[in-house]
Amino acid sequence: MMSAGRACPPGVVDIEMNYRDRWKEIKRRDELASGAITRSELLALRFWPFVARGTAGECWLWMGSVKDTGYGQFTINSLQKAPLRAHRVAWEIANGPIPKGLHVLHHCDNRRCVNARHLFLGTNHDNIKDMWAKGRAVIPQMLRHRQPTA
Ligand SMILES: [Zn+2]
Repeated sequence: MMSAGRACPPGVVDIEMNYRDRWKEIKRRDELASGAITRSELLALRFWPFVARGTAGECWLWMGSVKDTGYGQFTINSLQKAPLRAHRVAWEIANGPIPKGLHVLHHCDNRRCVNARHLFLGTNHDNIKDMWAKGRAVIPQMLRHRQPTA
């Protein structure tokens, strides 16, 4: 899923984690265990190199792996094996842990966007309401392939 990621906007240094970083990752597991580094510090360290940051009002695009759902994802081995969703991590870095059961939603409707100013917390109900408001609720599967491909 990295195919589109090669054309980096200026300021985005390197997208793929190199071997040196992988080695550091192992060291961080110990730092995390001993409390030398917090979870959000570790998240921030790994997160920002994958983000094309713009001005405060712009969408900041996730340049790492993107799921077929359109959401960015990445894995921090020293935290957990399952991929984390990039926009949720962005919210967490800015605001602290996400309360259980809540979704992180986009004001901008851009799933790759990880600008915390464009994100807000909501319930499942809010999520559905938001989808309706933005006109992307229940698009029948069979109609999707008819969308113009300009
Ligand atoms: Zn945005």
